[in-house]
Amino acid sequence: MASGSASLMWFRKGLRIHDNPALDFARQESERLYPVFIIDPRYMEPDLNAFSPGSTRAGINRIKFLLESLVDLDLNLKKLGSRLLILRGEPEKVLIHCLKEWNIRKLCFEYDTDPYYKALDIKVKNYAVAAGIEVFSPVSHTLFNPADIIDMNGGKPPLSYQSFVKIAGQPSCPLSTTVSSLPPVGDLGSCETSEVPTIEELGYRNVTQQEFSPFKGGESEALKRLAECMKRKDFVANFEKPKGNPAAFLSPETTILSPYLKFGCLSSRYFYQQIQDVYKTMPNHTSPPVSLLGQLLWRDFFYTVAFGTPNFDKMKGNGICKQIPWKDDDKLLEAWREARTGFPWIDAIMVQLRQWGWMHHLARHSVACFLTRGDLFVHWEKGRDVFERLLIDSDWAINNGNWLWLSCSSFFYQYNRIYSPISFGKKYDPKGDYIRHFLPVLKDMPKEYIYEPWTAPLSVQKKANCIIGKDYPMPVVSHDSASKECRRGVAEAYALNKELNDSIGEEDLKNLR
Ligand code: FAD
Repeated sequence: MASGSASLMWFRKGLRIHDNPALDFARQESERLYPVFIIDPRYMEPDLNAFSPGSTRAGINRIKFLLESLVDLDLNLKKLGSRLLILRGEPEKVLIHCLKEWNIRKLCFEYDTDPYYKALDIKVKNYAVAAGIEVFSPVSHTLFNPADIIDMNGGKPPLSYQSFVKIAGQPSCPLSTTVSSLPPVGDLGSCETSEVPTIEELGYRNVTQQEFSPFKGGESEALKRLAECMKRKDFVANFEKPKGNPAAFLSPETTILSPYLKFGCLSSRYFYQQIQDVYKTMPNHTSPPVSLLGQLLWRDFFYTVAFGTPNFDKMKGNGICKQIPWKDDDKLLEAWREARTGFPWIDAIMVQLRQWGWMHHLARHSVACFLTRGDLFVHWEKGRDVFERLLIDSDWAINNGNWLWLSCSSFFYQYNRIYSPISFGKKYDPKGDYIRHFLPVLKDMPKEYIYEPWTAPLSVQKKANCIIGKDYPMPVVSHDSASKECRRGVAEAYALNKELNDSIGEEDLKNLR
């Protein structure tokens, strides 16, 4: 058993050195510091039966992004005289064993609002407190502490963005201290640690994905991407969402910082401060909700509502969710998930999701609307699960919040406004370059037919080497009739949900994005 004052820094998200209050506290007055990451089989164990490579809960791209982030964290820790210790197994058991073995006096980890971590952290804290170990678990994943906002709002989460922004005010500044060195790692005793494993070492063999996500994980990459973005002052000052081209895949029109925020490779408070610094030099800038700063507030808005709403990730038992009799149609769900709907705009987005783990916000809108209230009337929870597994920025609060929104189950109720799977994409990309890239089977289809290839004469299909119904599917539904049916279905459900409507109130309905 090791002696001297020892601290354990338990990394889960928050995979960074900058603005990391838990790490900052862990290093203070400690003779030894054990920086730990636990490979949890729940997230990392390969699932050989899954429809695409990965574990049951995470696609291969997110696992790869996480491993890259860990390698980078290890390198950055090494520069400070420390290193990352990788442990494997059920986190509670593994952690408690190490707390005993290393005689830890101080346990530090970032507070996490995800239900899985909330439950796990209670168990770990209970053990630590009983063992006389000091626990420090600050909120540093978001700009604000969701619990504070809920308190300030009389015990309920604000249900509109505007009321959230009014209550929230300004976030606190990121930590100004730059860590220049860390206490050394102590004796490891009987705890089995390793270096960061490779994908193959985790058991993911023969991954034959043609294209891996172009985004590399890690704090270094996050800070580089942020710095490049902040240099483009006009971009930052004029940022306006939902404007922007969802098909601009060669040069995406948003920051693509979401996966870095998800894993905490980037501090949201630091990002916020950097945007404000740009605004100081560019007085004519956009404002929330459409501005770049406004996007970070959307993130915190969803975190707050998710934190304060029981069963936020379900329709049943969720007090802010409309009860809608969604269809249970696995065939339609599979066609959507596997990019076989016969609508090239929708299928190309679903291929991008699988290959990149990231798509533009409006592309996410298109496919989420299509699956639910737009065309297929499939339950939003099913689509949420697919996104949750495949997105590299997959985030419990934000993903559920946006699926509630897009399915018109909460926050947004204008169910007559449906994204056309044909004309919406065409508006941005009339030649269909995005479709040609992600669906190469359609690469030679003339632009007149690229969004509706089933309307191309057989001679055109032959010339394009793509026979519809053989090489690429016929549409799974007719958009015109399916969308009418969907509108009718939602309208009927809304009538039955009148009570919920009334309780949400006019103020919130007015404030919709
Ligand atoms: P930018 O436009 O550059 O915005 C900067 C940051 O603001 C983002 O990185 C993100 O952290 C935050 N942000 C932007 N838009 C939103 C939003 N609508 N809600 C909350 N925060 C936002 N985002 C996730 O991070 N994880 C998810 O799991 C997720 N699931 C989604 C599911 C659906 C159905 C939809 C419609 C959207 C989802 N989003 C999710 C929100 C949004 O699409 C992404 O955050 C955004 O596209 C990420 O790209 P970016 O970093 O370039 O964003």
